[in-house]
Amino acid sequence: MEIIVQKFGGTSVADAARRARVVEHIRREWHAGYGVVVVVSAMGRRGDPYATDTLLDLIGGEKTHLPPRERDLIISTGEIISACVLAEALWRSGIPSTVLTGAQAGIITTDRFNRAEISALRPVRVQEALSRGHVVVVAGFQGVSESGETTTLGRGGSDTTAAALGVALDARLIDIYTDVDGVMTADPRIAPEARPIREMTYGEVANYAYLGAKVIHPRAVELAMQKNIPIRVRGTLSDDAGTLITSASELHRPGRVRERVVTGIAQTPNVTQIKVESATVDPHLSRDVFRLMAENDISVDLINVFPRGVAYTVKAEDGPRAKALLEAHGFQPEITPGCAKVSVVGAGMAGRPGVMATIVEALVGAGIRILQSADSHTTIWVLVREAEMAEAVRVLHRQFRLDAETDAESAIRTGTGSEGTRGAKAVRQADEERVPVAVRDPKGAYGPEVTRERDGACRSEGK
Ligand code: ADP
Ligand code: MG
Repeated sequence: MEIIVQKFGGTSVADAARRARVVEHIRREWHAGYGVVVVVSAMGRRGDPYATDTLLDLIGGEKTHLPPRERDLIISTGEIISACVLAEALWRSGIPSTVLTGAQAGIITTDRFNRAEISALRPVRVQEALSRGHVVVVAGFQGVSESGETTTLGRGGSDTTAAALGVALDARLIDIYTDVDGVMTADPRIAPEARPIREMTYGEVANYAYLGAKVIHPRAVELAMQKNIPIRVRGTLSDDAGTLITSASELHRPGRVRERVVTGIAQTPNVTQIKVESATVDPHLSRDVFRLMAENDISVDLINVFPRGVAYTVKAEDGPRAKALLEAHGFQPEITPGCAKVSVVGAGMAGRPGVMATIVEALVGAGIRILQSADSHTTIWVLVREAEMAEAVRVLHRQFRLDAETDAESAIRTGTGSEGTRGAKAVRQADEERVPVAVRDPKGAYGPEVTRERDGACRSEGK
C-alpha cells in the first residue's frame, strides 16, 4: 500500500470548522486508496484551552519549577487530546481511525527532555492499523526514550514526527498543512504581499528555515531528504498548490522553474552585535575572542574579521554574558543590542554580480542603516536595527519583485501549460525516480547531521 503522511499544525485543528476541512483532506487521499498517516499538533495557540503554551502557562510558563521530565509529561498531552478529537471527527464521518501516542507509534528518542531527538523508529502498530484500513492519527511532537520516559521534540517537533514517519514508512509524499499557503517569499505576517514559492530543493528550504522562515522545521526537511521523499507545504483552508520540496536533480531538469535569482527574505530578531577592536594590528585578537565565546558555549554568527578587530553577533539572551566575559579578559567591547538579521536567500544568486549592490541601494533608499553584512553563495545577510527589521523585509521583498508572479509560476499554480503539467506531475516524477541523495548520516537513520546536498545549498545549524 502506498502511504501519504499528512501533518496538521495547531491552527489547522483549532476549531470544528477547520477540523472539517482537515477531515476532507484526509478523506480525499483515503478514498484514492492511500494509506493515510496523520500527524497533529496541539489545538490552537496560547489561550486556547489545550494549546502547548496554555499547558505551559498552567505550570508557571518559562519560569516553571517543574523539572523537565514532568514538563514533558504535561505538554505531551496537548497532541494526544488533539489526535483524539480529530479521530472522533473522522469516525463521525465514517472513516475508521486509530490514535497512537508517539510511544505507541514507535518513535524512540534520546532522553534529553524538552529537546529530544528521534533515534529510531519502530512503526509496527502504525503498519498494523493501516493494514486494517484505518487512518492512523499520531500525536506529534513526542516520543519515548529507550527507558520508557515520555519526551518531547522541541518547537516544530510535529514536523519532525511527520518527516520521520514518512521516511520510516517510505511514504510517497509528506504533506505539511498549515495556516499559510506554502513556504512564502517572506513571512506573510510581515510582508502581506508574500506569495508561495512553487518549488524548492531540500537544501534551500532547510537553509531558509534556519534563517527564520519558521513554516517548517529544518530537521524535518533534512530527514525527508535522506530518502528523497517529496514534501509539500500548503494551506489547510486553501486550494493553492503550495510549495513542492524535492531534490536538486528533480528541480534542475530542463524546463523547470529556476529563473529567480532571489527566492525569499527571512528574518531573525533578538540579535546583539559585538565589536572588539584594538589600537594596533593584533593577529591574536580574533582567535582569542572566538575561543572565549566557544569555551563558554556562546554561538556566534555574522562574523567579520578586520586587521584590527572583529565584529560578530550573538543571540540577545547571550549578550550580557558575552560582554562580561570579554571585559573580564581585558577587551573593551562595543555592544549594540536590539538588532535583527535579515537574510536574502536564493540558490540562483551564486556567481551573479550585483545582488549586494541591489540590497544596499534598496535599504539606503529607504533610510535603513546596514550595521554589518556577510554572504555565502546562496545567502546575503544584513544586520539592521530590530525596529527597522519589518520595513527592511518589505523593502527587499519589493526590490527583488518577489510580490510579482512569473508566468511559469502562474502556470504551476493554475495547473495549465507545460510548466503546470510538470508541476502537477513533479511529485510523481520525484517518487518514481528516487534519485539517491549523496548524504551520509553519522548518527543513525533518524538523527541526521546533514550539511550538504548536491547543490551545496544546505547549511548546518550554527557555526
Ligand atoms: P503550524 O502550527 O502549522 O506548524 P507555524 O506557526 O509553525 O504553523 O508556521 C506557520 C507560520 O510561519 C506562518 O503563520 C508564518 O507567519 C510563519 N512564517 C515565517 N516565515 C515564513 C515563510 N517564509 N513562509 C511561510 N510562513 C512563514
Ligand atoms: Mg510549526
